Amino acid sequence: MSESNLSRRKYLASVGGTAVALSVAGCSGGGGGSSQTITAGTAPGFPPFEMKEGGELVGFDIDLLEAVVNETDYEFEGWEEFEFDSLIPALTNNNIDVIAAGMTINDERDQTIDFSDPYYSSDQAIVVRADGDFSPGALGDLSDRPIGAQKGTTGEGVVQDELVGDVITENQYNAYDNYVLAIQDLENGNVDAVVIDVPVAETFAANRPVEVAFTYETGEQFGFGVRTDDDARQSALNDGLAAVRESGTYQELTGEWFGQ
Ligand code: GLN
Repeated sequence: MSESNLSRRKYLASVGGTAVALSVAGCSGGGGGSSQTITAGTAPGFPPFEMKEGGELVGFDIDLLEAVVNETDYEFEGWEEFEFDSLIPALTNNNIDVIAAGMTINDERDQTIDFSDPYYSSDQAIVVRADGDFSPGALGDLSDRPIGAQKGTTGEGVVQDELVGDVITENQYNAYDNYVLAIQDLENGNVDAVVIDVPVAETFAANRPVEVAFTYETGEQFGFGVRTDDDARQSALNDGLAAVRESGTYQELTGEWFGQ
């Protein structure tokens, strides 16, 4: 049984893609123990980690997590989409088993959930309109300006910790359900800067009339989120991550999604 699973997995891995996960799940028949499956949650609107293209969920996190799960004994059940700040409740309520959403590993979140080993590093970027005359070079230059970020993010943390009450008022901070709305409001002139993870800032800058004014070093590392009592999935994901790094898949995916 486990041997035929393994060879199927290898065959399917060579075929690649989402159809694989569906066909594995399809073949498992009814009554497959839910403890051996992984349903993943993400928050699209965070390119190139996760976004919708022609109605389809795509991105680095999507490909990476599916490749990682493919290296484990778990069956991949599919994706559920949430706003970013609903992901941790969805995980702790058992609606999903894993968060793959460019989520930074930090102490605050570590009190509620656990993380896999890190799979990507990032700092924060301060993004402004490309055609504007506002070109800040440091946080102090944001003085008295309306600033945007996505709710529940580390970018919001930078705004709250470094700006609010110091260089801007609480009212000058605009919190958005997702970063696409924040960038749209920046383009529309309703905020003068958005604080957002560097790789996502660069992706927006490549596709929309915005640019990175400067970066603010935070040394963040992204991990997959799991429930605190779920040591089994945590160690399976860590082994899977090591395997995709080893096989060259990790590097292929960073090349595809970040041109690195
Ligand atoms: N890395 C940031 C955080 O964890 C933003 C993640 C996101 O918006 N998807 O808060």
